[in-house]
Amino acid sequence: MTVFVTGGCGFIGTHFVQKWLSSHSETLVNIDKLTYAANQKTSQIESPHYHFIQLDIIDKHELGALLRQYQPRAVVHFAAETHVDRSIKAPSDFITTNINGTYSLLQACLDYYLSLGDKAQSSFKLINISTDEVYGALDSEQPGFTEMSPLSPNSPYSASKAGADLLARSFFQTYGLPVITTRCSNNFGPHQNSEKFIPTIINSISLGKEIPIYGQGKQIRDWLYVLDHIDALLTVLDRGERGQVYNIGGGTELENIELAKQICTIMAEMMGREAEAYHSSIQYVDDRPGHDFRYAIQCEFIENTLGWNSRYDFSSALKSTVSAFLQNPNNV
Ligand code: NAD
Repeated sequence: MTVFVTGGCGFIGTHFVQKWLSSHSETLVNIDKLTYAANQKTSQIESPHYHFIQLDIIDKHELGALLRQYQPRAVVHFAAETHVDRSIKAPSDFITTNINGTYSLLQACLDYYLSLGDKAQSSFKLINISTDEVYGALDSEQPGFTEMSPLSPNSPYSASKAGADLLARSFFQTYGLPVITTRCSNNFGPHQNSEKFIPTIINSISLGKEIPIYGQGKQIRDWLYVLDHIDALLTVLDRGERGQVYNIGGGTELENIELAKQICTIMAEMMGREAEAYHSSIQYVDDRPGHDFRYAIQCEFIENTLGWNSRYDFSSALKSTVSAFLQNPNNV
């Protein structure tokens, strides 16, 4: 049997591929365009159970040929343009990959699904990896998003992901393609691209540069350790219900400034310095336009129906993330 992933060379995809190859004997086919965000090393992994194919998911015909060739029982769709700041400066790639690319993948999967016999159809699943950002922003008093919260995206990134989610939903409702959408909160862990929040803080401190924080750093994010996310995705792949949406959150809500200070403290301890030495490098910079104030996820649904729970302690996971970045500053 075979499983496909798209975008398996990105941050979360790299962890999925590594976990899969260390715990499954089933073949994994990784389709990735290798954009600037890709980890080249993931494309070069050597394993008898692994095939890497460089391809843009917009290429519906080639996707269809690969599906017919490898006959996967599931597709896990990570591929996306993911950086909100880039989506504000230049939305075009986000629309092309996240909406049109997801449409191409859905159509190729539907054609493939309809060609399968009853048994293969009954086990097929397409997992559409989405984000809590599609729900928009919360104020400090509101309860976290549930799967029933309305979609209210505020950035071109989150709007493009919401568009993909709605297309995925329509392919389930209209054509019966067995799609499951997962919406996770902010992931952290090794191998994240250096442009994202936590790697930016770590790299700024280790290079002795100013630590840039948007606005007053009061925005609140719900942090999920990437390995908890991978466990949740494997759970959904195993026993998630077709047509469902599952929220996945880490349950640790922090203001950006508080998280930056925690990283300062961890790095100061590691370097034998006072945390204050790093705190003084924090520089507040002009806020991101349309910056969402708070994201928080309620994930009782996946906990109660599928038995998944986050396992990793936030502080320990943050420390090991910092260590991993310091040992591997080029993030490969
Ligand atoms: P990433 O930016 O690190 O990696 C994206 C990967 O997709 C890269 O390897 C890139 O080469 C590939 N890719 C981009 N466009 C492609 C295309 N047209 N065809 C084929 N491959 C393409 O992303 P990530 O942080 O690993 O996120 C993975 C998924 O999880 C995304 O769908 C993202 O929206 C979602 N998500 C991420 C987070 C997070 O905190 N990182 C939070 C919520 C949701």
